[in-house]
Amino acid sequence: MNQSLVELADRSIAATYARYPLMLVKGQGCTLWDDKGRSYTDFVAGIAVCNLGHCHRRLIAALERQARELWHVSNLFYTGPQAELAAWLVERCFAERVFFANSGAEANEAAIKLARKYFKDQGDPRRYEIISMELSFHGRTMATLSATGQDKIKKGFDPLLEGFRFVPFNDIEALRKAMSPSSCAVLLEPIQGEGGVNCPDPQYLQQVRKLCDEHGCLMILDEVQTGMGRCGSLFAHQLFGVEPDIMTLAKALGNGLPIGAMLATEKVARSFEAGSHATTFGGTPLVTAVALETCRVIEEEGLVERAAELGDYLRSGLRKLQASHGVVKDVRGQGLLVGVELKKEGAKVVDACRQRGFLINCIQDKVLRLAPPLVIQRDDIDALIECLDQILPAL
Ligand SMILES: *Cc1c(COP(=O)(O)O)cnc(C)c1O
Repeated sequence: MNQSLVELADRSIAATYARYPLMLVKGQGCTLWDDKGRSYTDFVAGIAVCNLGHCHRRLIAALERQARELWHVSNLFYTGPQAELAAWLVERCFAERVFFANSGAEANEAAIKLARKYFKDQGDPRRYEIISMELSFHGRTMATLSATGQDKIKKGFDPLLEGFRFVPFNDIEALRKAMSPSSCAVLLEPIQGEGGVNCPDPQYLQQVRKLCDEHGCLMILDEVQTGMGRCGSLFAHQLFGVEPDIMTLAKALGNGLPIGAMLATEKVARSFEAGSHATTFGGTPLVTAVALETCRVIEEEGLVERAAELGDYLRSGLRKLQASHGVVKDVRGQGLLVGVELKKEGAKVVDACRQRGFLINCIQDKVLRLAPPLVIQRDDIDALIECLDQILPAL
C-alpha cells in the first residue's frame, strides 16, 4: 500500500471507518485494482451501489456529455434530466411523485417528514408514531438513527427523536399489537440489508399492507439497498405483490454518484408543497443525467432478469458449500443480494477472500454479504465458490 497516503488518511480523516488494508485505484466492470496493480473481483459493489460495475462506457459518456452542459443551478429552476428521471421512476411503480435527495438517510428523512405532515394536514396530529423493525437500518441522521432498530449504532447519541417504536421483523402479530391511534406509518425494508440479509415470509408484506389499511396508517418501504434491480425485480416489493404509500431509493440509483429519492402516491405527496422540504443538491442535472442513464442501461441490458438468474445460480453454488462445510449455517437472499450465515465470525473469511483476489464483506459479525455488480459473470461466481470451498475448512 502507498504508506504515506495511508498515514495521511489515518491522521486526517475522522476515524469513523474500520478500513481493510487496501487502497483501490482503478475499476473496470467487476474488477478493481489496488495501488500495487493487483486485481480483485468485486462482490461488494460499493455496498450494493455499482449495479453496472465500475466505469461503465455509457455512464462515462453521459457524465461527460452533461459535464459540458450544466452541473448545478439549484431547485429554483427547472432542469431536464431531473424531470426525465422522475418520469422514468414513476412510470415503473406505484408512485406518482418523487423528491430527490443526496443519500439514503436523506430520502428516509423526507419520508418520515412527509408521513408526519400528511396526518397533520388530515387534522389528525395524534398520529406521529413510526413503527419500524428490529435489526433495521435506515441511516445515520438523527431521525433515521431514531428509526433504526440496532442499539450498537445508536449508542452515545441520546436523546434520539421521540415517536419511534420497534417490533421484530417478519412477526405480524407483534406489529398488530404495536398498532395504536398514534400510529403514523410502518417503516421497513422489504428484505433487511445491513441487518443480515433477512428475507420475510412470502405473505408478510401483504399482511403489513393490510394492517396499515385497517389502522389508516401509511406503509413506507426503504428500498435504498433492495431497489434498482438488485433483488431480481426493479423494486423488491414487486416480488411480494404489494404497493407501499412511500418508497425510498438511493444506493444503486446513480451507480456511485450520490443521489437519493423519496417516491410517494399523489395523495400522500400532496402534503409536500412549496417550502415544505428542500435540499440544495437534490437532483442536480449532473447527477440525475447519470442516474437516468443508469436506469436505461439496467432496463436495456436486461439486468433485472439477470440479477434474478445469477442470484439463483450463486445461491445454488453456496448451498452446495453448505452441504459440504458444517460451518455454513444458512444461505439466503433474493436476486444478487445474498447472505451466507456462518456459525463463526466471518472476518477471517473476508480477509482470506481478499488475499485470493475477491472482495466481499461481513455484516452482523457472522453473515457474509455478496452483492456484486449485476453485470457479474458466471465464471466470476464459480471462482468465488471455488475460493470459499478452499477457505472454509480452515475456519
Ligand atoms: C445504506 C442504507 C441506508 C442509508 O443510506 P446512506 O446513503 O448511507 O445514507 C438506508 N437504508 C438502507 C436500507 C440502507 O441499506
